[in-house]
Amino acid sequence: ESPVRPPLPVLGGDVRVPLVTGGEVTYAALDYAASAPALRRVWDDVAAYAPYYGSVHRGAGYLSQLSTDLFENSRATVARFLGCREDDQVVFTRSTTDSLNLLATVLPAGCRVFVFETEHHAALLPWGEGRLTCLPAPRTPAEAVATLERALADREPHGPALVCVTGASNVTGELWPVRELAAAAHAHGARIVLDAAQLAPHHPVDIRGLDVDWVALSGHKLYAPFGAGVLAGRPDWLREAEPYLAGGGASRRVTRLPDGRLETEWHTTTARHEAGSPNVIGAYAIASACRALTEAGFEGLVARERHLVARVREGLAEVPGVRVLSLFGPDAPRVGVLSFVVEGWNSSHLAAALSAEYGIGVRDGLFCAHPLVRTLLGAGQQEAGECGAPDEGRAHSAVRVSFGAGTPDEHVERFVRAVRELVAHGARWLYRTEGGRCVP
Ligand code: PMP
Repeated sequence: ESPVRPPLPVLGGDVRVPLVTGGEVTYAALDYAASAPALRRVWDDVAAYAPYYGSVHRGAGYLSQLSTDLFENSRATVARFLGCREDDQVVFTRSTTDSLNLLATVLPAGCRVFVFETEHHAALLPWGEGRLTCLPAPRTPAEAVATLERALADREPHGPALVCVTGASNVTGELWPVRELAAAAHAHGARIVLDAAQLAPHHPVDIRGLDVDWVALSGHKLYAPFGAGVLAGRPDWLREAEPYLAGGGASRRVTRLPDGRLETEWHTTTARHEAGSPNVIGAYAIASACRALTEAGFEGLVARERHLVARVREGLAEVPGVRVLSLFGPDAPRVGVLSFVVEGWNSSHLAAALSAEYGIGVRDGLFCAHPLVRTLLGAGQQEAGECGAPDEGRAHSAVRVSFGAGTPDEHVERFVRAVRELVAHGARWLYRTEGGRCVP
């Protein structure tokens, strides 16, 4: 065991799963990048609050007031966690995808959007073709900054612009030079939104320090799986745009005019984009996770993850035919997220065998980042859908292993041993592929 163990226990460590080879083991959840388990603290906080739930911003009763306080205090906690500026707004959404789609609806007229092709689909797709510039994958952080600077400087006309960039890749786990990209964006009169879905669970995110305009994140990747997300940042575009959803809560006054039309005055606060009854438990769960992470401190978490990443890398380096996917090179700093392919193996078969024979949960595929994964695999951009095409001796998809708070060394050691054994002996209940053929 590594000496550094942050005091952040998670749920689900007692799940037992049957193995196809006989017997059962404790489930090893190594798919944190998709959804992390809930922190025990989050679960306890939610359980303590749930019996006293009432309608927020609505009722005059005691429980309504209690819930309203809880919801608004959660907003303040998230603002502190993200180092928000005095006038920043924290809007509760459903997820990172929802946050970025919301931002896409508040862009000023003529706004162009710049993203790298390496982004998650949630950051690639909400903007609409007409205003999007999709930048090629950079091979170094410095190249990312230079590419963005060139594109922003060359834009015609030199109008409003938004850059959307990830803090940590959901495929390679590599950290992106967010501060430098933000400086480049601002130097060229553009705004920038940080997709912190993968960064926030592993690293402190400081809106002010990074000097980004908005941050988007998901509760279920931040150990708070109760269906809420966050969009935090500059109030102006949010205040000036039409509400994301039209309905109660977002509207301050609705009047039926003599000619029969409805006249609506919308709120200019966060309520503008939070129509309907909000997900109070989800928001409270995120705030609880923010408090738990802040109190534990990120130092322990970061040190521990570094140790686990090093163990996975060492272990995989000893397995013949393994290639770890990387954009910025093998030594680039990364969070606890790592994707790889094994020569001659279909990634789906490998992931299925890890589950069925070893009780290990990983993910395989193209991870909702098709252009990036195809670039990393050296595959053509037209090839392979979500699950990858049938093998033709070359990988069309990858396996991703990811971890964080509460991951014991045993899970990572079991994973490394499992890959080694599977590659050495083959899967016992599956076929593997050799030169485009399936062999038992
Ligand atoms: N961005 C990144 C980098 C992600 O990893 C993910 C989730 N895989 C998302 C955005 C979308 O998050 P959600 O599915 O919670 O909306």
